[in-house]
This record gives sequence, structure tokens and C-alpha cells, in this order.
Amino acid sequence: MEPLIRFDNVCYTYTGEDCEPGMFAVNNLSLEITEGEFVAILGHNGSGKSTTAKLMNLILSPNSGDIYIEGNKITGRELTDEDIFDVRKKIGMVFQNPDNQIVATIVEEDVAFGPENLGVPSKEIRERVNEALDTVGMREYARHAPHKLSGGQKQRVAIAGVIAMKPKCIIFDESTAMLDPMGRKDVMNTIHRLNREGITVILITHYMNEAVQADRVIVMKNGEVYEEGKPEDVFCRVERLWEAGLEVPQSTELIFKLNKKLGWDIPLGVYDFDTCARLITEKINSTGDKDGIN
Ligand code: ADP
Ligand code: MG
Repeated sequence: MEPLIRFDNVCYTYTGEDCEPGMFAVNNLSLEITEGEFVAILGHNGSGKSTTAKLMNLILSPNSGDIYIEGNKITGRELTDEDIFDVRKKIGMVFQNPDNQIVATIVEEDVAFGPENLGVPSKEIRERVNEALDTVGMREYARHAPHKLSGGQKQRVAIAGVIAMKPKCIIFDESTAMLDPMGRKDVMNTIHRLNREGITVILITHYMNEAVQADRVIVMKNGEVYEEGKPEDVFCRVERLWEAGLEVPQSTELIFKLNKKLGWDIPLGVYDFDTCARLITEKINSTGDKDGIN
């Protein structure tokens, strides 16, 4: 089966007064996203994550290289409005600031905006809006004014607006960054639910605890893929991630430092706090080395 999204040596450079000539925001980037996957994209500020997201749904077009959506090449030719429409319908995007994504003064009208633009018949729009609001747990707010909602609730309304267009894939570009911990958790639960229901998820984040929940992690640096793999494999490369200016999950960092300081050999991994505490306690008990920790 063709991947849902494929990048083949894609380069993108911004043009403008402030831009350094020859500076690539995305540099020879090759990657594949399989339908149904949950992929986290990590990377320092300026590493090219948002540019990659915008290339995926044709907000930007590459300078060179090719992009395929379900095997259809969407580069190297003049695109019609229909081509662009088709890609945007398949690949939705949720941005960082919930306030910038709300367009209507009533929640259900806001959610209806996308399908209306797609020319969906009004009876079906109603069904889609209700279904989308149910999915994000916001049905009871259908008649509310979006600006009175919390950040997390607004973001869930924005997600409902994307779901109502029935995309195959949703890209979340730091969509939890402006939320409080509760809002972040609600949005993450919604994202997991969408993925379980078959929607491909691309989660751009700088929260390690969100990234570890993905099937696969792609770490970007200077517009290129720097590391890639299952979260537990990628996060074990602690020093390499530090070099890219990234953090690793707290449990991994703690075990890495203890191993280094005390000559221990606890396997590096991504552990919940209970498991992390158990591994350390077992090690202390087996070595009798209680004095080394201070
Ligand atoms: P990230 O999302 O990982 O922080 P971006 O994709 O936004 O990274 O940026 C990649 C590079 O492109 C950075 O060097 C950034 O300064 C530059 N860049 C991003 N957006 C623009 C723009 N609109 N105009 C000029 N340069 C930009
Ligand atoms: Mg960004």
C-alpha cells in the first residue's frame, strides 16, 4: 500500500528581505507517513517542523523534491484548485493558537464552516457537526459562544471543525502549547481517540510526555531528519538528543545520569514513575550501594 504521505528529497527555502540566501528551512527531507499511524515530530525551534507541516497540506510548495499523497504526486506540475482542495480535505491542520482558528460566533456554526466550504449538503453538515462535537466531547456547548470557552475547549472546537471535513490525517502543530495542563490532557485524549478511530495523527510537540505516546518519533534538525524510530529507541539516544538541544523524558534522564554516576546498567527506556522507582530500588537493593546517591 502506498504511504499516505511521502516526501522525496524535499527542499524549501523562504524568500524575503530577512531570509539568508541558500538557507533551507527544509533540506533534502525524505519521510513517509503510513495511514493510521501516530507520529510525533520533535525538534528545536527553527528546525523546520512547521514548514514540513505546511508542505504536507500544500500551504507551501517545495523548491525541489517530490511529495506524494496516497501515491499521487502533487509536485512538479501546475496544480488546479481541485488538486489543492483534495489535499486539504485529506490532510487537516490544527494550529497553536485556538483564538486564531475560531471564525464564527456560535460553536456549531464554527464547526460547520469547513464542510460548508467543501459544498457538503446542509443535512449532512448537521450530522457531521454533531458527530464531530461528540467526538471532542463538546456537544453540550453547540450553542455557546466560542470566545467564552477555555483554551482547551476552544482547541477541541477547532479540532471538531477539522474532523467535520472528514480528513484522513490531522496535523497538530504545537496545538497544546498554549493550554493549561488540564486543557492539554483533554486535547491529548481527543487526539488518541481520533487515532483509535483510524485518523492518522501527526503531532508536532515539544512535550516529551506527549511524544512518548506516539507510535513513531521523527526528530528534526536544520530541516532534516536527525533521528527516527519508536519513542523508546529514540529517547535512549540521550546524548545525541541533547546535542540537538532537545530534552529526553524525565525517567530516561534520571536513569541515564544514575548509570553514569554509579556505573549502573539499568536499561535506558521510557518508564512511568512507578517502574522507574522500582528499577532504581531493585538496583540499590542488589548492589547495597546506598551511599553513592547524594
Ligand atoms: P519550527 O516549526 O521547527 O520552529 P519552522 O519551520 O517554523 O521551524 O522554521 C524553519 C526555518 O525557516 C527557521 O530558520 C525559520 O526562521 C525560517 N522561517 C519560518 N517561517 C518563515 C517565514 N515566514 N519567513 C522566513 N523564514 C521563515
Ligand atoms: Mg513551528
